Amino acid sequence: MHIDPAVYVRSAIRSVPDWPKPGITFRDITPVLQDPRSFRVLIDLFVYRYMRQRLDLVAGIDARGFILGSVLAYELNLGFVPVRKKGKLPFQTVAEEYSLEYGNATVEMHTDSVRPGQRVLLIDDLIATGGTMVAASKLLQRLGANVIEAAAIIDLPYLGGSQALKDTGLPIYTVCSFD
Ligand code: AMP
Repeated sequence: MHIDPAVYVRSAIRSVPDWPKPGITFRDITPVLQDPRSFRVLIDLFVYRYMRQRLDLVAGIDARGFILGSVLAYELNLGFVPVRKKGKLPFQTVAEEYSLEYGNATVEMHTDSVRPGQRVLLIDDLIATGGTMVAASKLLQRLGANVIEAAAIIDLPYLGGSQALKDTGLPIYTVCSFD
């Protein structure tokens, strides 16, 4: 029997109601990673999409983007660079602040993590409001990167993030979505 790989991955995602606070349904990818078949199916979806894209680097967003991005970079024979939360990187950094529901957050990258003109894939586990991806992509562009696409496992389209990203001109790929 043929099972659509994206449906297979989606079925392994655990939805945890009211976490981290009431009204939020947390989409937990740890069961996808824990099961060797769904982990492989997931990574292979990204590998097949990007294997012919002549990329130079994968940039993964703190912290679940590190898991996906480093495995993908290894499989595609590319380098990996982290987009980190504020205060974690030891060398010279560039920072981009963005707003959350309550307050602000900042993402940082090392100034020498990308060379101008490099073709970079940006990856995280989930796009909600899109704020994190927009900030990360701005950082990469400030460093001169050519951001080829922003990829995630999950889109929450009702929050408008993926549309906002598309409106900035950045192509988006997500494996599945939740209403
Ligand atoms: P945003 O910047 O609003 O698009 O939020 C995306 C970031 O927040 C990603 O790094 C996600 O890991 C995390 N996130 C936001 N909402 C959820 C959710 N409902 N379930 C799991 N992670 C989430």
